[in-house]
Amino acid sequence: MRKPRIEVGILGATGAVGQQFAALLANHPWFRVTYLAASDRSTGKRYGELPWRLPSCCSADIAHLSVEALKPGLGPKLVFSALDASVAGDAEEQFAAAGHWVVSNARNHRMDPLVPLLVPEINPDHLALIPHQQKSKGWRGAIVTNPNCSTVFLAMALAALRRFRPRRVLVTTLQALSGAGYPGVASLDATANVIPFISGEEEKIETEARKILGRYAKDFVKPSSVIISAQTTRVPVIHGHTETVSVELKENPSLGDVLAAFREFSGEPQRLGLPSAPAQPVVYLEGPDRPQPRLDVENHAGMSVQIGRLRSCPVLGYKFVLLGHNTIRGAAGAALLNAELMSALSVLN
Ligand code: NAP
Repeated sequence: MRKPRIEVGILGATGAVGQQFAALLANHPWFRVTYLAASDRSTGKRYGELPWRLPSCCSADIAHLSVEALKPGLGPKLVFSALDASVAGDAEEQFAAAGHWVVSNARNHRMDPLVPLLVPEINPDHLALIPHQQKSKGWRGAIVTNPNCSTVFLAMALAALRRFRPRRVLVTTLQALSGAGYPGVASLDATANVIPFISGEEEKIETEARKILGRYAKDFVKPSSVIISAQTTRVPVIHGHTETVSVELKENPSLGDVLAAFREFSGEPQRLGLPSAPAQPVVYLEGPDRPQPRLDVENHAGMSVQIGRLRSCPVLGYKFVLLGHNTIRGAAGAALLNAELMSALSVLN
């Protein structure tokens, strides 16, 4: 007999990531959206009446729901958070204290030593932090986070190369406008331009990736020793963060070994057959001029990291270009995969 779908809510349902959650959760086999919350700019309105900014239509199943104020204790036990960082910190804690499982996109709790910064293909064992988190904070619920959008793509590439022991990494990002939320960067700043600064982004990439690749030891995560130097730029692309990466590996693999490691990379989502798991988390593109956001970002439902142009680097050893969909694998899709993993492993109790 088919199990009833688990009721879920979306906090920050009206933003760029919140709408992506709504789109990905439409017809989801395990989850059913019954609760939508946002700021007082949106509360009291029907979800379907608010401006919709994705190419697919707003699902009829939720268009009739009224947008509610953030009220911990109301709504389903499992809530996805796409809240603006200015409110996510306190709001997510209050929801967790009230017994909700908060699967969050926001940056506020990612580096809390007791909060898993989860990428299901890389560190599913970090979910073991949750009982320690609940005990230490006195929460009935819990918070689980997904990484910053640029970080998750880099972390997946480095995780694929783990056996060669990545030592030092230089990464430069070319990040899409949708990464700044809605309405985001002013058009007069963004059009035909490159903005060489995204507040806080370089620090997130340099620190979050080390936690993700770190080793779980009893009740904490020992960060990976990899050293990352990041430069981040905003470019006039709608969706899709491109990153140019140079990496130094302690082992000395051949180019064929590195290519095979990308192609063979796989993890728990693939083993468990989670509904949102891409068949291949890392996909290598052969074309000499790929990946490109306009041509490639929608491939694999936006859930894979696409890599191309692998070649030797005279400074660090190897270099390549990667691309990820920032609001899907970099945000809503990442959180959805986290919740699917937690459900499959019976963590959501
Ligand atoms: P956004 O488009 O600005 O949406 C923000 C959401 O937060 C809206 O639903 C907004 O509701 C709600 N909100 C703002 N102030 C609130 C308040 N005082 N009380 C309740 N709700 C409030 O931002 P976004 O791009 O979707 O990002 C959402 C979160 O995900 C952020 O923390 C961001 O850093 C993170 N993130 C974004 C991306 C990306 O690619 N965009 C990637 C990874 C992580 P109203 O519409 O009612 O104002």
